[in-house]
Amino acid sequence: MNTNNGFIALVLFVTVTLCSCEANSSLGNASNENPPNVIIIFMDDMGYGDLSSFGHPTIQTPHIDRLANEGQKWTNFYVASSVCSPSRGSLLTGRYPIRIGLAGEKHRVFFPESLGGLPTSEITIAEMLKELGYKTGIIGKWHLGHLQEYLPTNQGFDYYYGIPYSNDMDGVKWGLETFFAEPDINMWNVPLMENETIIERPANQHTITKRYTDKALEFIQENQNDPFFLYLPHSMVHTPLFASEDFLGTSKRGFYGDVMSEVDFNVGRITSKLESLGIDENTLIVFTSDNGPWHLMLEHGGSAGLLKDGKGTTWEGGMRVPGIFYMPGTVTPGVIEDMGTSLDLLPTIASLTGAPVPSDRIIDGVDLSAVLKDKAASPRDHFFYYRMREIYAVRNRTFKAHYITQTAYKKDNQRRVLEQPLLYNILHDPSEKYDHADDYPEVLAEFQVLISNHKKTVKELPFEMDRYPE
Ligand code: MG
Repeated sequence: MNTNNGFIALVLFVTVTLCSCEANSSLGNASNENPPNVIIIFMDDMGYGDLSSFGHPTIQTPHIDRLANEGQKWTNFYVASSVCSPSRGSLLTGRYPIRIGLAGEKHRVFFPESLGGLPTSEITIAEMLKELGYKTGIIGKWHLGHLQEYLPTNQGFDYYYGIPYSNDMDGVKWGLETFFAEPDINMWNVPLMENETIIERPANQHTITKRYTDKALEFIQENQNDPFFLYLPHSMVHTPLFASEDFLGTSKRGFYGDVMSEVDFNVGRITSKLESLGIDENTLIVFTSDNGPWHLMLEHGGSAGLLKDGKGTTWEGGMRVPGIFYMPGTVTPGVIEDMGTSLDLLPTIASLTGAPVPSDRIIDGVDLSAVLKDKAASPRDHFFYYRMREIYAVRNRTFKAHYITQTAYKKDNQRRVLEQPLLYNILHDPSEKYDHADDYPEVLAEFQVLISNHKKTVKELPFEMDRYPE
């Protein structure tokens, strides 16, 4: 009897020891006993050039820069759309907007009158991680359908605190001058929600960055002993800009810089919290932005740095954004010049946590975990730049071809279907100035194959953003 018990105890000991070794040495194994927490900090309309670590001369973002310097700074990181709603849907599902009902013919994003949302049949990162018992929270801007059935609480999130769509919607009166006037929360009747209830209207946007972070710290504190997923899509720096008193007048970049400073300070509060709880080495932080800068907003909009154009376009400035990954002891510090995209977050997080990637549908993302851990070459080799239902441009490693060009939010907003594509060496020429279409016909032929193979896999869903009252 005693001998048997001893044998069982030994077997258990060996099993437990092996399991914990495996968990320590190989994040991403399904037997991972202490899977990492995941925090995605998602800016709104912050451009490629708006961080000091990405070259801005008068915006100071020391806390975000620390994540970039001590983690990985990705300089070729893309989002799947140049506007809010489809970019957010793709980040959460790992699928191009066209596959998830977030491409349309009339509207590019959801509005307060919209009847649609991210279809609940889609599987979000939150739903994927809940399979492993994660606690899930979203604090910030949702913008994937504000009617009951589409709220975050029906898309895998245990907790929601934030605004359901953009901070410039529900405008009391429309006019560009309202964006540039003295900030007044009463000009935008946007609601602040907790779970499924409106708790404040209009949302007091002066304090919203601070209050999102207060809620995020509470969420982290409460769930410190469980694995958690915190999605933190800030509503700044989308115009209308708001900052709290403490930050007004602090930046040489002016009001936009003040708002960036406040976001940066609050990113620092998150990392300090993780450190004080001793969970920083078991928490992956991803920091990026939903699309490029909104040039319509002049100095109240951000900067794409050396990239061309901005929000709403398929030029680099619309869809290339800062990408930062930080997890001390796991993410090997460095600058990554290979490609990565927001589509890749779902499979990468699955790999790091041991969560199952949905297998009953096409996932457009690829697993970047080997780049994060070992600085391996990125498996992401090509990317389609969609605008609504159409592919406007494609990048395949070194080259990017444009088939349709169009700017956005400008009077001369003409859509041009090009007879001959434009071809840029995007590594040499990130500003897209020097066309090489005549020099590389074989590259363009290869692009055609990529496009036609991709199109064969696309099944369009009803256009959720075009669903409006009769
Ligand atoms: Mg945006």
